[in-house]
Amino acid sequence: MKRSNCQVMRMFDFIVVGSGAGGATIAKELAGYGKRVLIIEGGRSVPAGQASKTYRIISSGVEVWQTICLGGTTMVSMGNAVRGPDGLLHEYYSEAERELGTTLVPESHMGKGTRALLLVSKDWKVMPKAIDFAKCRSCGMCPLGCPQNAKWDASKYIRRAEISGAQVLTETRVRRVVISRGRAIGVETAEGREFRASTVVLSAGAVETPRILMRSGVQDVGAGLYVDTFITVGGLLEGVGLNRELNMALFIKRDGYLLSPHYSSFLVPYLSSKGIRARPEDILGIMVKIADEPTGFVEGGRVIKGLSNRDVDLLERGRREAEEILISAGVNPETIVSTYPRGAHPGGTCVPLVKDLSPILESLYVCDASIIPGPLGIPPILTIIAMSKKLAALLTGRA
Ligand SMILES: Cc1cc2nc3c(=O)[nH]c(=O)nc-3n(C[C@H](O)[C@H](O)[C@H](O)COP(=O)(O)OP(=O)(O)OC[C@H]3O[C@@H](n4cnc5c(N)ncnc54)[C@H](O)[C@@H]3O)c2cc1C
Repeated sequence: MKRSNCQVMRMFDFIVVGSGAGGATIAKELAGYGKRVLIIEGGRSVPAGQASKTYRIISSGVEVWQTICLGGTTMVSMGNAVRGPDGLLHEYYSEAERELGTTLVPESHMGKGTRALLLVSKDWKVMPKAIDFAKCRSCGMCPLGCPQNAKWDASKYIRRAEISGAQVLTETRVRRVVISRGRAIGVETAEGREFRASTVVLSAGAVETPRILMRSGVQDVGAGLYVDTFITVGGLLEGVGLNRELNMALFIKRDGYLLSPHYSSFLVPYLSSKGIRARPEDILGIMVKIADEPTGFVEGGRVIKGLSNRDVDLLERGRREAEEILISAGVNPETIVSTYPRGAHPGGTCVPLVKDLSPILESLYVCDASIIPGPLGIPPILTIIAMSKKLAALLTGRA
């Protein structure tokens, strides 16, 4: 349903473009500080459990996955809430963890598949998640959108921004930033409507933010794309049921890659192509996620993201370790297959233009994964939230 609660002619202090991890956080913080905020979101508002209907999958060598809706890609996250390099963000990480209710996955929510893996390696650590475990039914549906609304997503911050007076426009795609005499004065939408504000913050994600900047005449954006490329390695273990339990409840962090229990429905056709008929409930899998080289780029009409030799090497090292763990857990070695590479953490495409959260030009800021120097090789939401909180504090003279 389209949300449009704003007076078009009104002047705002801030326009925030996009409502994902970065946009929702900065909007909530600024509105909380009493600023007049307009959030413009290209996608629609959907119930948490229906977010998978808004997936946009970009074929670019390594497939890039996002959702285009109110709340952005946080709506389909696995709930993993992990700190990046702590540095100057320490206090903001702590604040974010408190607000998200971050907690380690309790034993009660570790299913049979997770336990089978836990038994065979001492290196597993328990994943911190932004999930209310009193509500979570451990159904394994996180990446489709939480049917119980038990997982934190950015729509919670949007709601808090609205309570503080922010206005929200959905299904309204921003085409470009309106720039006059070297400063941003507003935005123009795809339908040609203009909205004015003292300051514009772009939070359309690492694929769309550089495109908006390019359409606004800003150069030197779009390169340096990383996506934390991953594959899922899996095989047959009868009745293990990982497909119907909370995934990624554990992780092993190695130099350059991360392993985590993960069921992927893409494993089924891979097994079929080997002549193996597999039921989803009989597959045990491990995700291998690497900190890929930032060699991709975004252009007006396309995204290019391949695998470097180093990426292939890291994926292969991770795949071998995953295979060993799966075999120790009882998976039939003859059945082990891997999916094609995908990426769910696009970032880095505006890094050269922004130093320590500086503006792109007067009164124009970027606040999303596109300004995180990376790759982090770990789930980035907590870092994006911490960084957005810091930017809001800087913009309101509190940091
Ligand atoms: C399946 C999946 C699972 C994940 N799990 C986790 C996890 O467990 N933990 C974690 O930390 N990370 C996870 N991630 C990654 C995480 O969701 C993203 O890294 C994060 O949401 C990026 O935040 P962002 O603000 O940069 O962009 P987004 O959250 O993608 O937000 C961008 C917003 O901008 C809007 N937009 C785009 N173009 C325009 C335009 N022209 N005009 C107006 N609006 C526009 C989009 O609709 C979207 O709402 C996962 C990702 C996927 C795909």
